[in-house]
This record gives sequence, C-alpha cells and structure tokens, in this order.
Amino acid sequence: MRVIFLGPPGAGKGTQAARLAAELGVPRISTGDMLRAAIAQGTPLGQQARPSMGRGNLVPDELLLALVRERLTQPDCAGGCVFDGFPRTLGQARGLEQMTEGTAHAWLVFEIEVPREVLLLRLSGRRWCPGCQATFHVVNDPPRRPDVCDACGRALVQREDDQEAVVAQRLRQYDERTAPLVEHYRSRARLVPVDGDRTMDVVFRELLEAVEVRA
Ligand code: AMP
Repeated sequence: MRVIFLGPPGAGKGTQAARLAAELGVPRISTGDMLRAAIAQGTPLGQQARPSMGRGNLVPDELLLALVRERLTQPDCAGGCVFDGFPRTLGQARGLEQMTEGTAHAWLVFEIEVPREVLLLRLSGRRWCPGCQATFHVVNDPPRRPDVCDACGRALVQREDDQEAVVAQRLRQYDERTAPLVEHYRSRARLVPVDGDRTMDVVFRELLEAVEVRA
C-alpha cells in the first residue's frame, strides 16, 4: 500500500505519517525532512531549495520529482511507503502517477482537516531537532527536558519557516496549490477525510481503521 497525507502545515501529517509507517513496516518519505537534510549538508539540491523554503514557498516540481524518483528506487520502498508532504501540486501528483505506473500498490489518501486558529497555535509552539528531525510542541508534546531533544540530546529550535510571516505564506501556498489535490484524488484513490483537531492517539486509531478496511 502507498499512503499520501494531504493537509496544511501543522495538521499533524509528520507525526501521524511516522506512526503509520512504523505500524505498516514501510518507510516514511518526508520531502520536507529530505530537503532540510540537503540544506544542512550544503548539497546542490539544498542550495536550490533553501530560498523557496525560507520564504514559505514550494520548491519547484522538477526538484521534488527527481528526489522522490530516486528514493522510490531504493529497495525498502518495494513493499509500499507513506508519503509525508508529497505530492503538494498537481504537477507532482501527475509525476508520481507516471513514475509508479504499472505497480500493483493500492493508494490511500488521508485529508487531515484542522481549523486555521488551531494550526497557528500548533506551528507557533512547534520545536524541532536539527540533529534527528524529531518534533515536539511546547504544550501538546513537550520534551522531557525543556528545549532538549528526547531522542538525541541536541538543543531544540524553532524551524525558520514556523515563524509567523512565513507560516502565512505556507498556508496560502497550501490553499492555492495543494488543496486542489483533494479533487484530483477523489476519483483516483480512496480519499479519507480525517478530523485532525483531536488527540494524536484518537486520530491515529482512525487512520489504522481506514488502513485495515482498505487491506
Ligand atoms: P514540510 O516539512 O513538509 O512542512 O515542508 C517544509 C517546506 O519544504 C515546504 O514549505 C516547502 O518549501 C518544502 N517542501 C517540502 N515538500 C515539498 C513538496 N512536495 N513540494 C514543494 N516543496 C516542498
């Protein structure tokens, strides 16, 4: 099975995708994590992606499609995967369809819905580990020691693009470029709307039920 998560920044895609991937025993493919790692390593891809990311804009489709195409050739993806933050445009969705044509996987698309004011609270309190990319929230999911990563002990920071002005642009990009994917997938995959304004555990149980129904 291949799973796609649609939802605005702050909807909880990363957390839920990580749990679901672990449960299904398939990799989570987070294009945001891959791009942040490329920036940290100073690779050519990182240098190309950085200006768009810093302003809250989407990185060009051709870069994303090359990144995902390469990732899908790795053997751990043979049994399926959970995409987190990809596809985000119609061009990416079409590119993904072309690159996976002829494979036997079923597609399940979750659309995570969360009210705007809740998204803003979640994003402003989000803290991120530049070492292992784990995320926390100062109120909803605090680390054991304030501002220190539970997993690797590094100091937590606020992601550059979680700052207020950038968040507004990311939300605009979602509305304009990613939200139309809901219609795109309605006729092409099993699309499951999920109320994401509930606890992580309750949302996760609902995802698992949908996966089991599908399987
Ligand atoms: P995320 O961690 O998924 O919120 O992604 C952070 C940022 O990385 C986004 O605001 C974009 O600038 C960039 N990005 C991640 N995934 C994609 C994608 N599929 N298409 C274009 N840009 C992306």
